[in-house]
Amino acid sequence: MNGQGLQTYDVIVIGGGHAGCEAAAAAARLGARTLLLTHKIETIGEMSCNPAIGGLAKGHLVREIDALDGIMARAIDRAGIQFRMLNRSKGPAVQGPRAQADRKLYRAAIRDLLAEQENLSIRAAAAEDLTIGPDGAVSGVVTGDGEEIRAGRVVLTTGTFLRGLIHMGEEKIPAGRVGDAPSLGLSDTLEQAGFALGRLKTGTPPRLDGTTIDWAGLESQAGDDPPVPFSFLTDRIATRQICCAITGTTEAGHALIRANLDRAPIYSGQIEGTGPRYCPSIEDKVVRFADKARHQIFLEPEGLDDDTVYPNGISTSLPRDIQDALLKTIPGLEKARMIRPGYAIEYDFVDPRELRRTLETRRLPGLYLAGQINGTTGYEEAAAQGLMAGLNAALSASGSPEFEIDRADGYIGVMIDDLVTRGTAEPYRMFTSRAEYRLLLRADNADQRLTAKGIAIGCVSAAREGAFAKKTAALEGARALIADLSEMPTTLARQGFAVAQDGVARSAAQLLAYPDVSLDRLAGLWPQLGGIAPAIAEQIEIESRYAAYLTRQRADIEALRRDEALRLPSGLDYAGIGGLSTEIREKLDRARPESLGAAARIPGVTPAAVTALLRHVRRRDASAA
Ligand code: FAD
Repeated sequence: MNGQGLQTYDVIVIGGGHAGCEAAAAAARLGARTLLLTHKIETIGEMSCNPAIGGLAKGHLVREIDALDGIMARAIDRAGIQFRMLNRSKGPAVQGPRAQADRKLYRAAIRDLLAEQENLSIRAAAAEDLTIGPDGAVSGVVTGDGEEIRAGRVVLTTGTFLRGLIHMGEEKIPAGRVGDAPSLGLSDTLEQAGFALGRLKTGTPPRLDGTTIDWAGLESQAGDDPPVPFSFLTDRIATRQICCAITGTTEAGHALIRANLDRAPIYSGQIEGTGPRYCPSIEDKVVRFADKARHQIFLEPEGLDDDTVYPNGISTSLPRDIQDALLKTIPGLEKARMIRPGYAIEYDFVDPRELRRTLETRRLPGLYLAGQINGTTGYEEAAAQGLMAGLNAALSASGSPEFEIDRADGYIGVMIDDLVTRGTAEPYRMFTSRAEYRLLLRADNADQRLTAKGIAIGCVSAAREGAFAKKTAALEGARALIADLSEMPTTLARQGFAVAQDGVARSAAQLLAYPDVSLDRLAGLWPQLGGIAPAIAEQIEIESRYAAYLTRQRADIEALRRDEALRLPSGLDYAGIGGLSTEIREKLDRARPESLGAAARIPGVTPAAVTALLRHVRRRDASAA
């Protein structure tokens, strides 16, 4: 084909889910001529499962996406109908913002944000195949009706659609999610290109008619007042806020499930894929936690003008009649009408060890993968990968250096490093426990960690850059102020502070390290502290309280970065390195780590093997010098 008359873009993004929307917006923000190709315009930004964004660790990811000017946080701020800061009673490192969304408002917000984006075109079409240029790199996409569209960079974000197969009791329906056809051609393309594909599964609960639920007597759950926005650019939430309710399963329901396990696809052998361990179906919970008499269910309205209710906690693939019978055993749901049954879905994913840290595949240069296709689960995980793939695809198209976030910069870095070095055997979701530097990687300081990096590569708007500069100046001013203000122990004791009477003055910053001292309390001593804005005050208090730990973490991070700086060449011949066992050689060959640090994090790679690698790299660098 000579290319005449063909449409050409810098970047094509396939799939308008959470990964795809973020990827397309990110590539376009960097100035790449970008096409978002997706099955249906009306399902752009669709939440396939729970109508909520954020949560523990996931909320951190959303704030990080926002810090790099992504769209997810701004969209949920427009569409959120109940905001809650989870883990408020625990330390600041593990608190996570979560918001329930009005599904329709969320889709509309995403579509509006994409429509405002320059350099971005959107088309409804199925991608069936990829084209490969003579250099072995990806050169474009072929749509379902045979049209070829050219681009040197393609980001694939097909979610649960690759050879998707829905299970509901004995029924099996090929689909990407309910009501959407699966994607078959691209699975064949990837398989033929030699990609290692695996099979995973996930599931969703039935949807209920809220007007048929008996709400009286159920425990009600309100959101935070005032709601705390996700985006660093949002001042306040204007959408009307609602309450949810809490109910739970009963022994009668558990007995029903146990009696019908032979009809549950995950136990009858019908499903081969591995499901998310941390988000199990109700049949899975009843079997695995047999001694638990009740499993909690949150009844979450799906929208302000929508009676549909999402019963969070009873994802299931049991047959429709059993789902109906199960509802009758749950307080408040005895007469509830099921609008749509729950189901499980199996789909293909690509072993993420096929990827570089930029999320470009090593096998097919120019092809990037992001989202559920990489073995992850969750909107936030998908969006964060989409952002990184979109940015890197655009940077590569313009010949600019790659953009990476490491494990000490953010949860995005932790997730990508985990995926590309370790792979995954089950749907990967983010947890705060996956991060080594939790005290530094907080949801409240994502902008301080990442926005300057975004400004440096050019993906941050002028408005955000201005807001960031203002906040940074305010933080610096407050830090200087608390370091400057000090008092002698005698004065402090008179004000009720329990400090040693050693004649040494204490600064406001030092006093803030005491667990019972807040800026509010210090303002009694130094009224000028009362003028610090609440968002700045919160960060200053956290920094001061954990100053000693943060200093220690910074030392660990320096060591991490030293190992990261030792880059391993992409074509390294592990067979030629003495001192490595066959098993370790295979592991390294599979993941092809890009740094010595990444090699050390591959499970099973021993310290002795890392030393052998280090020796090899040093010898190579010495001979190159
Ligand atoms: P998706 O949001 O699935 O988007 C994929 C997009 O690609 C769609 O717009 C689709 O139309 C488009 N597309 C696909 N193939 C093509 C093609 N060939 N050409 C053009 N367009 C294409 N996550 C959880 O965290 N917890 C859960 O409990 C949970 N349960 C789930 C239950 C179900 C039934 C499903 C379907 C998903 C569930 N998820 C759950 C996963 C969550 O929906 C995904 O993690 C998230 O949506 C992934 O985002 P994504 O962008 O990778 O893919």
